Amino acid sequence: MSRSYDVLIIGAGAAGLAAAAEVARAGRTALVLEARDRIGGRVWSLEEPGLPVPIELGAEFIHGRPPATFSLLRKAGISAIDAPFVRWSVQGGKLRLRGDGFLAEVQKLLRQQLAALKRKDISVEAFLARHRHALSAPARALARMRVQGYEAADPARASACAIAEDWCGEGAADAGHYRPRGGYGALLASLLGGIGAELRLRTVVRVVRWKPGSVEVEGTSRGKPFLAKAARAIITLPLGVLKLLPGAPGAVRFTPPLDEKQPALDGLACGTVIKAALRFRAAFWEELDGGRYRDATFFQSPRAAFPTFWTALPARVPLLIAWAGGPKAARMSGATKPELVRRAVTSLESIFGERARIEDQLEAAWVHDWQRDPFARGAYSYVAVGGQGAREALAAPLQDTLFFAGEATDLEGEATTVAGALQSGTRAARELLRIAARRGGRDSGRA
Ligand SMILES: Cc1cc2nc3c(=O)[nH]c(=O)nc-3n(C[C@H](O)[C@H](O)[C@H](O)COP(=O)(O)OP(=O)(O)OC[C@H]3O[C@@H](n4cnc5c(N)ncnc54)[C@H](O)[C@@H]3O)c2cc1C
Repeated sequence: MSRSYDVLIIGAGAAGLAAAAEVARAGRTALVLEARDRIGGRVWSLEEPGLPVPIELGAEFIHGRPPATFSLLRKAGISAIDAPFVRWSVQGGKLRLRGDGFLAEVQKLLRQQLAALKRKDISVEAFLARHRHALSAPARALARMRVQGYEAADPARASACAIAEDWCGEGAADAGHYRPRGGYGALLASLLGGIGAELRLRTVVRVVRWKPGSVEVEGTSRGKPFLAKAARAIITLPLGVLKLLPGAPGAVRFTPPLDEKQPALDGLACGTVIKAALRFRAAFWEELDGGRYRDATFFQSPRAAFPTFWTALPARVPLLIAWAGGPKAARMSGATKPELVRRAVTSLESIFGERARIEDQLEAAWVHDWQRDPFARGAYSYVAVGGQGAREALAAPLQDTLFFAGEATDLEGEATTVAGALQSGTRAARELLRIAARRGGRDSGRA
């Protein structure tokens, strides 16, 4: 195939689909190229018979009330389910109900130090060491665990300045957590209905040849070589794929290479996550210790391989999600599925003890190692030490021809999330449409 389009969009995740919708709205032709046999990318919802909720192996929560996600929910007629936050954590060998008091202690210090960090950035680990007398030990532990678990980052690499801005900025107040009813997959599928662009699944892009006003993309589509051309392209490849060295398996070769993007790629790092879903015969934790964990949503065991688990509440389902992020996930990456499930079960035993007979209760397990996923190469982005401005630099178009979207390029405070991916896709498409309108028919890629 070598038909020509106004726009090629590489990737059919949240960013690619949002970009396609915007391009189609403007009456331009677009071809969306997606390596997997499904849309969604790092949104991956599985429907399992007998389970009233989807299993989300990728994105699951809506953090706060980001307009990009809520406006899509409204258009799709899908509601957001409030996800309560009741956390129990193993402390001194006992499971205790825990609040967020220590987070306030960390935020206060980060706020005080923000100006200094803007002048000279250091890693989170170095920051915690430098301020060890100003923070209590539990506050330091919480900060480290949150950077690893929530940000999926390595505290030895993560920028303390970026964390300070993120945790203490405008959107930092806890505006709640939600799940899209029916899962993120259904939400993105609703977007697909409206795009009117051509979508090719199982189409792996390997080479992008480009010059001002012309892009030619080469790869394999359903196992056969393909070529597609357009005046411009929107690149929504995940950061982990963009960071691959030329020649590495899965790397996309740009000709000429994207040398201008190298500092931005160096300033950002790819977080690591292994997420598992464990389905049990019954929600055994609801019955333990006189039913005191019946309304628990999170269980934490800071020393375990999978330190965080959560329930599907408000849905009462015998399902627990196991989460390992940052260096813990990086260390486990590459282990076999049975081994990862075994470690998740052992981690759960460190919370409930052997009395829960967890292994006997386990009916099925799903697990995904996002670092090993050839079309993701990581979970989501974070800013490395000294990486201020990297997201802006990655997002900047090249020669009015290549446009960049994807969670790592969001500039409106939602990077790392589905909301960030959605709004980055819309932003990149609008940038492209503005240029295309200005240049009229003076481009070579268009047939
Ligand atoms: C385990 C996990 C949990 C998460 N939890 C949450 C959460 O609770 N809430 C939240 O908001 N966010 C969460 N996120 C982040 C969220 O999933 C991402 O930010 C978002 O989905 C990224 O969308 P994207 O379009 O930028 O990238 P992607 O979804 O990765 O889309 C890029 C697409 O490009 C495709 N591609 C890659 N290489 C090629 C190639 N060579 N040729 C063609 N196509 C290619 C990929 O297959 C993919 O479909 C989570 C992510 C992970 C991994």
